Amino acid sequence: MVKAERQPAQILDGRVTADQIKQEVAAEVRRLLAQHGVKPRLAAVLVGDDDASAVYVRNKVRACAEVGIVSDQRLLPASTTTTELLALIRKLNQSDDVDGILVQLPLPREIDEASILEAVAPAKDVDGFHPSNVGLLAMGRPRFVPCTPAGIIELLDRNQIEIAGLNACVVGRSQIVGRPVANLLLQRHATVTICHSRTRDLPAVTRQAEILVAAIGRPAFIRGNYIKPGAVVIDVGVNKITDVDDARALFGGDAGKRIEAIEKRGYTLVGDVHPVEADAIAGRRTPVPGGIGLLTVAMLMRNTLQAAKWRRGL
Ligand code: NDP
Repeated sequence: MVKAERQPAQILDGRVTADQIKQEVAAEVRRLLAQHGVKPRLAAVLVGDDDASAVYVRNKVRACAEVGIVSDQRLLPASTTTTELLALIRKLNQSDDVDGILVQLPLPREIDEASILEAVAPAKDVDGFHPSNVGLLAMGRPRFVPCTPAGIIELLDRNQIEIAGLNACVVGRSQIVGRPVANLLLQRHATVTICHSRTRDLPAVTRQAEILVAAIGRPAFIRGNYIKPGAVVIDVGVNKITDVDDARALFGGDAGKRIEAIEKRGYTLVGDVHPVEADAIAGRRTPVPGGIGLLTVAMLMRNTLQAAKWRRGL
């Protein structure tokens, strides 16, 4: 008997879904302006000179322009104190023009991050990090949902991936990804396991998952033996690799352009999932780049639109 050759995992393209969401937001922004004279405005606060954070803020500002949201960048020096940043947040809270406030993380170590996130008015908290929004999500009554987790659910839904009843495993328990995505999956009736650095025999746990979410921050940490055959693998991680041999091992036949990138700018991006090994066993997986990162930005646009509407009772 001839054994049929297994197809590699299908790639869940983040761009297609992100573009759909942004088009929907753009249409609603146009309607808000035409019918109510309202133009949503996002204030994006960036403190310090972290390169990656600057790129993230630039992408968010560019997306605002695409969908018709006004963006207001506040770039502050690394020497900014907690008191100074709190004063800016209060000003933005009080400003009637501002609908959404985004504070790009991580903040410089000297700044008290928790008190800054708590200072953002819950009604303008488009990142969903304020304790009252975190609490509502944990209670199963989400208001503003953090953008990356919301984007993951949206990607699953728009690719007709049924969540209810499935075993879902989330590796990572951060406030911005792991915990909220686990809450959302639970709300959608998955049976959810949350793993972290103290989990014993991690591959044995992750291999049970029909939906596996990796939010760890370690390049290609999830190997083939962590994945259940046919599983949907969502790769949240964004890591830099600089070694050409690593790129060869991770990207197989696709390594050429990765090696070119390393030679040109010194690095290429890889997720938390080993791409070649995942392709050999998963049913579907998200790529890095081109996956969840794009959805994160699209969901920020949607949350900002939502904030503009809710604040006005629309
Ligand atoms: P954090 O560093 O806050 O959390 C990492 C989590 O991974 C922790 O819960 C940690 O466990 C767990 N972990 C670390 N090592 C292991 C291990 N050996 N085994 C099991 N679990 C482990 O990261 P974030 O959640 O903020 O981000 C995760 C990744 O996602 C990063 O690469 C980040 O850049 C990326 N990211 C991407 C976004 C996007 O839009 N695409 C948005 C946000 C993040 P413990 O709690 O025990 O320490």
